[in-house]
Amino acid sequence: TLSDIRFGFDHSYARLPERFFARVEPTPVAGPRLLRLNAPLAAELGLDAQALTGPAGAAIFAGSALPADAEPIAMAYAGHQFGGFTPQLGDGRAILLGEVLDREGRRRDIQLKGSGPTPFSRRADGRAALGPVLREYLISEAMTALGVPSTRTLAAALTGEMVLREPGPLPGAVLTRVASSHIRVGSFQFFAARGDAEGLRLLADHAIARHDPEAARAEHPYRALYEGVLERQAALVARWMLLGFIHGVMNTDNTTISGETIDYGPCAFMDAYDPETVFSSIDHGGRYAYGNQPRVMQWNLARLAEAMLPLFDTNEDAALDWAKSAIATFGPRFEGHYRAGLLAKLGIGAPREGDDALAMGLLDAMKAGRADFTNSFRALTEAAAGDDAPLAAQVTGTDAILPWAKDWRARIATEPGVAERLAAANPQVIPRNHLVEEALEAATRDLDLAPFDALLAVLLRPFEAPPARYTLPPEPSDRVYQTFCGT
Ligand code: AMP
Ligand code: MG
Ligand code: MG
Repeated sequence: TLSDIRFGFDHSYARLPERFFARVEPTPVAGPRLLRLNAPLAAELGLDAQALTGPAGAAIFAGSALPADAEPIAMAYAGHQFGGFTPQLGDGRAILLGEVLDREGRRRDIQLKGSGPTPFSRRADGRAALGPVLREYLISEAMTALGVPSTRTLAAALTGEMVLREPGPLPGAVLTRVASSHIRVGSFQFFAARGDAEGLRLLADHAIARHDPEAARAEHPYRALYEGVLERQAALVARWMLLGFIHGVMNTDNTTISGETIDYGPCAFMDAYDPETVFSSIDHGGRYAYGNQPRVMQWNLARLAEAMLPLFDTNEDAALDWAKSAIATFGPRFEGHYRAGLLAKLGIGAPREGDDALAMGLLDAMKAGRADFTNSFRALTEAAAGDDAPLAAQVTGTDAILPWAKDWRARIATEPGVAERLAAANPQVIPRNHLVEEALEAATRDLDLAPFDALLAVLLRPFEAPPARYTLPPEPSDRVYQTFCGT
């Protein structure tokens, strides 16, 4: 069914050749019900939040009705999953409705996730369960509030149907995702794997128009596009590392060209600091462990360079030489962002020799004591003012922390703006797994969204002091050891 509501859509992706996607409509559901609408985001997108909170909005966000100007498609893409290549993945449970130009004139995709099967679904059902939908809502909005580039969540709707999952049926739901585009490394791999040179070029031109418009005027536009991706992803992974965020499923189909974090499946924030931390139940080898993320991103971007090779130069050797030197810049780019961010977390704005060792000294002590990542950095605020007790209470099991604090205080004594820098670089709250799980459980069990709402409200203000329970690490009995792919 068509709704009277129009989103003001444009369809630049759907105007690409038919082999870029499959035209497919969302599957109507038994009982559409809008659970939550992100009203500020709706306003940002120029949508009428008021109109969308009625039955027409419920029908649209549950996939039972289409906005009058939608042109629904499932996008084709490939991808390396845990190192193994699949030449065709594609949107198996996501349907792009169209693109809007937001209030600032930026183009944003609006996509339903969990709205029924597509030609890319393979054996799966095209559906999503309520828990993972609310999880993506919480974490994508928390990331945004923390200043990390991310896809957004516009709405969560119930379908009134159950989805079959292990160990038992769960309430079905649909998430409405907003992204500056859904083009992935895997999108380029899709065309490269088919030897489709024209498709590759059209995709690259589309990506340039959306993400690197200035690259169009560069001497080598496609090289400039690739460098744009390198830079955005280096900056992004640095942000993840500085917050203790573990993506969990860094496959090339989950690596965007825009530099936004995408696919909140088994992701999690670390409580205790340990670079080897893994949460994902399916990440047996620790491929996507916290400390591996920069390396994995570089590997993913090497796969992008392989796919884009013919675009870099018509001469294969020249293309390869250029690609190799470009990939090699990922390390320094990442290090630059990470180092500046880490020193900012120590209150340092004008780095000096010895600062890196100072920062490593803190991380080593935190690791030795399995200190809480977020709260240890927060405790620097008191330590800067001469009170080491909160820091010592966080970083236990080592006698290194008090001497470290003394050295650090000596270092920042001459640094202007330390308190402001500490406050801006070190959030008070992150989406802790046990709180996220608690919210999802109440929603799934009793359709009780009170814990979800309370947690979201806190996560939207991560640099303000929340009620204490939102800053505490889990008790051993509440500790979450594993997260599961968002299905
Ligand atoms: P992910 O691991 O979430 O990046 O998903 C990998 C691939 O599996 C993508 O092509 C998804 O569209 C597809 N997929 C994941 N869950 C489902 C589902 N429930 N139904 C259909 N396709 C799915
Ligand atoms: Mg994915
Ligand atoms: Mg996923």
